[in-house]
Amino acid sequence: ETVLELDAVTKVYGEQPPVPALRGVSFSVGRGELVAIVGPSGSGKSTLLHVIGTLERPSSGVVRIGGADAARLTDRELSLLRAREIGFVFQQFFLAEHATVRENVADGLLYAGVRAAERYRLADEALERVGLSDRATFKPNKISGGQRQRVAIARALVGRPAIVLADEPTGNLDSTTGASIMALIHELNAAGSTIIMITHDAGLADQLPRRIRLLDGRVVSDTGDGERP
Ligand code: ADP
Ligand code: ADP
Repeated sequence: ETVLELDAVTKVYGEQPPVPALRGVSFSVGRGELVAIVGPSGSGKSTLLHVIGTLERPSSGVVRIGGADAARLTDRELSLLRAREIGFVFQQFFLAEHATVRENVADGLLYAGVRAAERYRLADEALERVGLSDRATFKPNKISGGQRQRVAIARALVGRPAIVLADEPTGNLDSTTGASIMALIHELNAAGSTIIMITHDAGLADQLPRRIRLLDGRVVSDTGDGERP
């Protein structure tokens, strides 16, 4: 089952001069895949993540999420699709410091139309999946960096989205903590999550079963499609 499909996607920023960030990107991702998007700075990784995450519309081409053509949805429908079907994980965690760990995770469902009691029940379940049940009542500043990223991952997973998008999830962590977050990502994928991870670190990407390499806004190799460099 295909959960994500890109067909000839381009993205051009600005006009004077136009900056082409994506130049005809096509690939699809099946349910349960773990995919690295890899490439040097400026190759278009962030732009691709924003387009997949429906945060930005492509200049041309088609993005299908769970079979729905994102271009045919209104901004309101897109927001709901994003809230229900896409979980975001960022390098900088983006936790609310005044809220508890449990509240931070439950807030991942704020825009998905889920009642409060159910949000907290699902939050406790997600915290269990990332091994942080014993930190539910803590504030983020009372836990370690690795634990903060686990909270952010739990928040991304809480609604059981079709796709988890992780942007350099180990970028702010030391290598030991980063390795434990990578182990968690593998574990969550083994349990069924579809995960797309951006990284500029070829060593990290090599640990993942499929690598899509970008250069100057183009896919130059995709180990999942049998097109090797
Ligand atoms: P990466 O994440 O691989 O570093 P980006 O997607 O951030 O690549 O950038 C790809 C290209 O698009 C770069 O030339 C970058 O400067 C440009 N770019 C990215 N975002 C914008 C933007 N909002 N406005 C103008 N140019 C942008
Ligand atoms: P990353 O570290 O993930 O590659 P960047 O530093 O490339 O992120 O970009 C951070 C943000 O700034 C992104 O939202 C990106 O779209 C935007 N951006 C990147 N390059 C430009 C640019 N030349 N002009 C305007 N915005 C940009």
